[in-house]
Amino acid sequence: MPPRDHPPLLAVVATTREVLDHPELHEGLLAPWERRRLDRIRVPGRRDDVTAARLLVRLCVARFTGLPPEASGPDQYCDTCRRHGHGRPYLSRRPGLGVSLSHADGLVAAAVGPGPVGVDVEPAARRPGPLPVLRRLLPATELREAAAAPDPDAALLRLWVRGEARFKAGGRAGLRLLDWTDRDRAAVAAVAGAGPVTVIACADPVSGRPG
Ligand SMILES: [Zn+2]
Repeated sequence: MPPRDHPPLLAVVATTREVLDHPELHEGLLAPWERRRLDRIRVPGRRDDVTAARLLVRLCVARFTGLPPEASGPDQYCDTCRRHGHGRPYLSRRPGLGVSLSHADGLVAAAVGPGPVGVDVEPAARRPGPLPVLRRLLPATELREAAAAPDPDAALLRLWVRGEARFKAGGRAGLRLLDWTDRDRAAVAAVAGAGPVTVIACADPVSGRPG
């Protein structure tokens, strides 16, 4: 029986470098279909980011479930094309858990927890897209508040990552949202899920040693 209170959702932010340098992680953990997908990425930095995100999500899932990292990789399924290999990630071994990953210019994030989960990370210096685009994607009242904030660019970026996290979690009502700034990594991140969130910013979420 599931516990009455949601167990906390685990979210991790790291730099791509921290993950690629992690002693327990290597590309051999990736599934053949993931490696085939990586082989099609021509920009080396982007390939590293995607690799790191897929490795970090394994560490995250391994810590949360107790499964070994090699058994912690998410599958993906696209509702639109009804095909595997892209689209929303899910854990076939733990159907009750949600999983999410994100990467952006040398930064990666991963999250796992009960029910739907979404995570997004962006460089803190990034400026979110033009207002007409934001208007189509984000609630008008929140946009107005962000535009009136003392630092509108930072407030809009925070709104953006929250919107992305909510979208990745399926966008349903009742999701909890948490955003935070990781100053050491110059990152802004947000996570959406059904329960309270434990955020770990470190290169070693398996040991839980703070980074
Ligand atoms: Zn598709």
